[in-house]
Amino acid sequence: VQFLIIIAFGMIMLVDQFESPIVIAPGLAGAVAVITSVLALTMIWIRGIRKRIFHALESGHLPIGSVQNIYVRGQNGMKILAMVGQSLLIFCTQWPDVVRQTLGTHIAGLDELVMILPFVFWLMTGYFFLYPADRAIRESMIGQMLAISEAVHPIWSRRQFLDFQLRFQLLLIGAPLMLIVAVKDIFDIPAVESILFKIGKPILTFFHMEKFNSMIPEMALACLAGIIFLLAPILIKIIWKTQPLPKGQLREALERSAKLAGLKYKDILLWPTHGVIVNAAVVGFFAPIRYILLSDGLIESLTDGQIQGVFGHEIGHVKLHHLPYLLVFAIASMGLIGLAVMEAQIFFHLDPNTTQLIILGAIMLVWFFAFGFVSRRFEAQADLFGAKLLSEDFDLVGCSYENCQRHRTAQVTLMGNRPLCLGGAELFSSALDRTAGLNAIPRKANSWRHGSIFNRCTFVVQAATDFATLKDFYRQVRYVKIALLFALLVTAIWGVGMIAKLNHSTADSRPPITINLPS
Ligand SMILES: [Zn+2]
Ligand SMILES: [Zn+2]
Repeated sequence: VQFLIIIAFGMIMLVDQFESPIVIAPGLAGAVAVITSVLALTMIWIRGIRKRIFHALESGHLPIGSVQNIYVRGQNGMKILAMVGQSLLIFCTQWPDVVRQTLGTHIAGLDELVMILPFVFWLMTGYFFLYPADRAIRESMIGQMLAISEAVHPIWSRRQFLDFQLRFQLLLIGAPLMLIVAVKDIFDIPAVESILFKIGKPILTFFHMEKFNSMIPEMALACLAGIIFLLAPILIKIIWKTQPLPKGQLREALERSAKLAGLKYKDILLWPTHGVIVNAAVVGFFAPIRYILLSDGLIESLTDGQIQGVFGHEIGHVKLHHLPYLLVFAIASMGLIGLAVMEAQIFFHLDPNTTQLIILGAIMLVWFFAFGFVSRRFEAQADLFGAKLLSEDFDLVGCSYENCQRHRTAQVTLMGNRPLCLGGAELFSSALDRTAGLNAIPRKANSWRHGSIFNRCTFVVQAATDFATLKDFYRQVRYVKIALLFALLVTAIWGVGMIAKLNHSTADSRPPITINLPS
C-alpha cells in the first residue's frame, strides 16, 4: 500500500499544474459516479473473495497457505481497484477542480486531503468487509497453533483490525506526505512566498544560480520534505504507539549484537500490533533519532536466537548503507529521466503536459523493474549480514555442525573473508521461515522488494555451504553499488551541463537592443 499512497500523492501534486486531459464525466456528478461505482466494484470483489475463503475453509480442500493466498490476492485486487479509481478521479473527472472550487487552495493541505479521501474510503470499506475472512482464517489457525503450543492472541475485533490497517498502512506514509503537501500550500500564500524569495535569492546569487530564482519555493519545499523524512522516526513512534523494550535477557542480547555490529541508536522499542505483525525494523538516518523496533508478535513467538537473527538483518540494512544507496537510486533515476526528457523537450519542442506524462510513465517503469532488482539484492545482503552476526555468536558459544565450513573445515583459505557458520545460517533461515509463517506470507510467494522466503532461506544456507556463491554474490552487490554511484555522477555532470545550456540559451534569446532602434 505504501507504494500506492506515494503514487496517489504524486498524482495530486502533479494535478496542481495540470489540466485534466480527458474529462469523461464532468462536474461533481461525474466524480460521485466514479466514487460510487468503484465502491460498488470493491464490495462485489471483496464479497467474491470472502465467499471463496469461507468455502475453502468449510470444505477443507485447500491447505491453509492457499487460503491465505486467496486473502492476499483479494487485498491486492482491492488496492489496484482503489488505485485505478483514484487515477480516474484525478485524470478523467473534474474532482480536483470541484474540491478546489469548494475549499480554495490555500487551507494548508486540506484540498489535497479531500482529493485523496475517496482512495482511503474505498480501501477502508474494503477492509471493513474483508474482516470476517481475516477472522475466519485466524480462527481456523488457532487450533493448529495450540496443537504445536504457539503463543495465541485473542483475535482482533473489527475496530482493532481497521485501526491497524489505517495506522500501519495509510498513516505511516500518508502522514509525512500530508505534512509536505500542507507545507506546499503554505508556501503558495503570497506573503510566505515573498519571505522565501527574500531568504532564497542571496543564497542562489552566492552559487551563481540567479536564473533559478523563480524556482525558490520548489527548492524550499524539497528541503523541507527532506527534513520531514529525516524526522519520520519520531512520527513513527507516535503513530505506532511504541514503548521502550523492558530490561531483561533479550534486551541485553540485542544490545550485545548491536555493539558487535557497531550500531549506534537511541532506543530499542516494543511495537504493539495485537501479535499480528512478526517483524523488526530500524528507522532513522542518525543515531540520536534512530530506533530499533521489535513487534510484540516477534518477541512472543521466536526464540531469542531467531530474534537476534531478524535483528541482525535490520542492522545489516543500516551498516551496509542500503537506505542511502536507495536514495542515490531515487535521485539518479529521477534525475536521469528528468534530464533526458528535458533534452527531448528542447529538441522536439514537446508541450508541458506530454512531458509530464512521459516523466511519470518512465519513473514508474524504472521503479518497478530496477528498484525491485536493487532492493532484492540488498535484502539478500542484509540476510547474509544477519547470518554473519549469528556466526560470530556461534564463535563464542560453539557450533555442533559436522560440516560447518567456518568451524570444522578450517583449511579453506578464503581471501580474508571467513565463511558463514552453517549453524548460524540455519538459525537465520529458521527465523526467516518462522517470521513468514507467522505473518501468513506464503513461502514461495514472490515479493517485489524482498523475493520469496523460500529463495531467501535456500540462498543463506547455500552461501554457508558453498563459499563461491557467497563471493559471487558480494561481487554482484559491489557492482550494483558502483553502478548506482556512477549513475549519480552522470546525473550531476549532466545536470551541471543542462544548467549551463539553459543559462546560455536564455542569454542568446535576449533580443539585441540595437536592431530595433528606430533609424
Ligand atoms: Zn530487509
Ligand atoms: Zn559453525
